[in-house]
Amino acid sequence: MIDTGVLAAVQGLLACDPDVAFAGELGEMSRRSGSLRAFADYVDVRINRRSTELAAQGAADTGAHVLLDEGRLTGREALATGGRDRVCTQIPQFDDALAAGACTAGHIDAVANLTKNLTDEERCDLSLVVDDLVADATHQPVALFEKTTKATIDKIREIHRPNSDADQLDRQRKASKLKRWTDRITGIKQTLISLDPLRDASLHAVLDAHLTTIRHDPANKNRPFDELRIQALMMAFSAGHSAQRIPEVIIHIDHESACHGRHTDTLCETVDGQPIPVSTVQRLCCEAIITTVIVKPDGTVDQLCAELRTANRAQRRLLAAMYATCAHPHCQVGFSQCRIHHIVWWTKGGKTVLANLLPLCETHHHQVHEVGWNLSIDENRLVSWLRPDATLWQTADGPNRRPLRRAAKARAPDPPPGPVSEPVESLARTG
Ligand SMILES: [Zn+2]
Ligand SMILES: [Zn+2]
Repeated sequence: MIDTGVLAAVQGLLACDPDVAFAGELGEMSRRSGSLRAFADYVDVRINRRSTELAAQGAADTGAHVLLDEGRLTGREALATGGRDRVCTQIPQFDDALAAGACTAGHIDAVANLTKNLTDEERCDLSLVVDDLVADATHQPVALFEKTTKATIDKIREIHRPNSDADQLDRQRKASKLKRWTDRITGIKQTLISLDPLRDASLHAVLDAHLTTIRHDPANKNRPFDELRIQALMMAFSAGHSAQRIPEVIIHIDHESACHGRHTDTLCETVDGQPIPVSTVQRLCCEAIITTVIVKPDGTVDQLCAELRTANRAQRRLLAAMYATCAHPHCQVGFSQCRIHHIVWWTKGGKTVLANLLPLCETHHHQVHEVGWNLSIDENRLVSWLRPDATLWQTADGPNRRPLRRAAKARAPDPPPGPVSEPVESLARTG
């Protein structure tokens, strides 16, 4: 193995005593110990690589075994070393940078995580910007590097898989879950909530609002923060019954993306910087308070104006008088469960007026915004449903609250009762 400065780093450290060092010296020592740590991580990567080779020939355990048994790594650390090995093999510049202590294992881990699900074409595109990535890794802290690398990879993915962000959110929604168990030793009840970023932001917006109220109460001055958070959680649950249906999540999106979809410099994220698909935000905008902030080129802001996109109470009552269920012709989800959709989207100039509003259940609202179904409505409220390829699926009846002569005559036999929503596939086959 080549000495990449590791001997000098060891000698430098041996000559120091942290107990009597000054600030500048401590910085220098920390830099040296960091480069030693990177070197040790690099050695583990090489061990993993070679023992995997030997294992393939039947001459050794797998890389993970050596690192676990002899190197005394945890299972998680051994797994991470495997990921680093993959990155360093595919991108030898990272191998060199880690060996020289120019970047850390944290940088390599970020690349390993972000490139896990790339296709061959996307990897090929990534190889064109590898020098930039390595240069970033050598001068950016891990958190910043992760962010810039993610932005680069998102751009590449956007070229090859334009809807991948909406697909990813969909996967995250489906992977969301609630688990409950009891800790056998303490007897404490444990609840684990795994959520997609959008619902997570929505949950925490509610929690934070309750927490702010609780913290302003002088009686809570000396109570531990964890206790206050739990109280906020319990308040959120008990308030849930009367909760309004307006999304309480704040999204930062640039005007261009909001009106025309993603572009190379799209900004569309939660307050905490979690990226959100543009199509999803366009759906949320059907029922939201839109606050426009003009951001100047230097990043500062000086204008603020809010606009309410939510149908008002009178409009909801008028719509409820016309619709007993979601306006999709085969859908039985009740009006109270529906979102009020703007047929001409607000980003395209649609107004919050009765003629432009239609109740849609969550599933069909999602289909319109994220899957690409298109609606138009005439003066008799006959709604045309266009497939994502712009062909006409069918023109549905007007309002669906019974009894209505026209609806009763023109409609197909009633579907079975209950909240049945047509999945996209069967929709696409119909008509
Ligand atoms: Zn909508
Ligand atoms: Zn529906």
